[in-house]
Amino acid sequence: MAKQWDFDLFINGEWVTDDELAPIEVINPANEEVIGHVPEATVKTAKRAIEAARHAFDHGPWPWMKPAERAGYLVRMAEILESRADELRELIVAETGTTSFATDMIQGYGAIGMLRSNAMQIQHEMQWMEPVGMIQGGTVGVTGQALFREPIGVVAAITPFNFPFMLNMVKVAPALAVGCTVVLKPHSWTPLDAMLIARAAQEAGIPAGVINVITGAGEVGDELTSNPMVDMVTFTGSTATGRRIMASSAPTLKRVQLELGGKSAQVILGDVPESYARTIGFGGVLTHCGQGCAIQTRLLLPVHLMDAYRSGVADAVAAAKIGDPNDPSTVLGPLIRELQRSRVEALVQSGIEQGAELVTGGKRPAHMTKGFFYEPTILIGDNSMRIAQEEIFGPVMTVIPYSGNDDDAVRIANDSIYGLGGGVIANHTGRAFNVARQIRTGMLGAQGVASDPQAGTGTGAGQGPGWGSTPSGIGQAGAFGGFKQSGLGREWGHHGLEDFTEIKSISWS
Ligand code: NAP
Repeated sequence: MAKQWDFDLFINGEWVTDDELAPIEVINPANEEVIGHVPEATVKTAKRAIEAARHAFDHGPWPWMKPAERAGYLVRMAEILESRADELRELIVAETGTTSFATDMIQGYGAIGMLRSNAMQIQHEMQWMEPVGMIQGGTVGVTGQALFREPIGVVAAITPFNFPFMLNMVKVAPALAVGCTVVLKPHSWTPLDAMLIARAAQEAGIPAGVINVITGAGEVGDELTSNPMVDMVTFTGSTATGRRIMASSAPTLKRVQLELGGKSAQVILGDVPESYARTIGFGGVLTHCGQGCAIQTRLLLPVHLMDAYRSGVADAVAAAKIGDPNDPSTVLGPLIRELQRSRVEALVQSGIEQGAELVTGGKRPAHMTKGFFYEPTILIGDNSMRIAQEEIFGPVMTVIPYSGNDDDAVRIANDSIYGLGGGVIANHTGRAFNVARQIRTGMLGAQGVASDPQAGTGTGAGQGPGWGSTPSGIGQAGAFGGFKQSGLGREWGHHGLEDFTEIKSISWS
């Protein structure tokens, strides 16, 4: 039997459950074995967690502690998590099916490091008080004025299944750092690593009610986003759920931070040499089996480079080893569930029906009888097809041949409801940079092949670094977030921290 991680819910500083609550069975997507259980929260449980967070904010010491004191708790939490890095890694790989390579790159120390960097920022970077010059603030009878930054209050944090530990951390760490209290609700498929965050907070001595972790499906989400005691919702997930959350939060005018879907373009410009085109293969779409919001899943390729690109595909397929995510040589682990695999299959089929050419993949690997595996897939189509417009969230690259003219590349890249990530590759960085400025997305990499010693040496099986062969990965994102229907607001960096604060102006006379 697989190792079991069983947890209760964490509310008001205690591990709680109730006979009324049905258990959620958590399974390993690589072998379909049960790896743990948590109770499924109800609306009643959610209200209890919200009340605990409200009480801790309104009456607790947390929002009013000096930044250095709160920073001390955050650093203790980081130390506890770091001391359990092996357990954390084992759990993340089992819970999500992320390869050990991608776990280390995206979910491990970097994610824990959010606690340390936010602790540093609130002590040394954040301007908690800003004097206002009397020319700006001048009102008759007023002798002084200042702006104060304060925590926004109770934060509901709702997260998806793909990189749960990192995504939980980029919400919990800044919210706690600035003095907010939190109710965290991870995805029902991946609730376990959030409980390790709760356990670390408890052991670090963070006061009761400051962080609460519950589970639950849509109606619990609706409670978190509509309850008047919640001041802000920070959500990462699909654009469809983001719309629902925005509507549910509107009657109480909560602040809403949304990190949503993407259909990012990797744009190869017309001056790129054939030798480079031969190495592109899957670009970065195999990272976590394509289950990443900012992965560059549309490859815009000049027509004159298509033959060179095709000639490299066999090498890319050979390098894309499918299998056990714990094996360090594995490039492609499983999709999260059967439901996700059938969504991917349906979208690939829609592409074929709309006239796309299937170059490789498009089926389940015959040798993997357990787990939700899918072959790395390349389709050649055009930008009007569903495979170019909809998020597939699987290991599928849609190649879109174009004229090689920069204006055409910009027009096609921008022809999307999304605007999250992207990359531009030219022979020289300057040309790539100019095109990057014209693409309406939140995060882009610009790369010059001639100046990049790595260019042209890859296998094309790409699972990093970055979400493609350009430097647009999360590690580089000083501010993570999107334009258009990819979201509202930013995570990471000082923008991510400030999103959890309000500004108060006090004048005196
Ligand atoms: P999802 O289906 O939208 O679910 C995300 C979370 O929302 C889950 O915890 C889910 O709970 C919860 N939820 C469902 N209905 C809700 C409601 N009515 N009110 C409040 N919460 C509700 O997304 P997913 O399939 O897990 O994740 C994939 C999506 O996330 C992709 O679109 C991807 O691009 C996006 N994503 C974006 C970013 C970014 O930074 N921009 C990063 C990662 C992922 P349950 O557990 O009950 O389903």
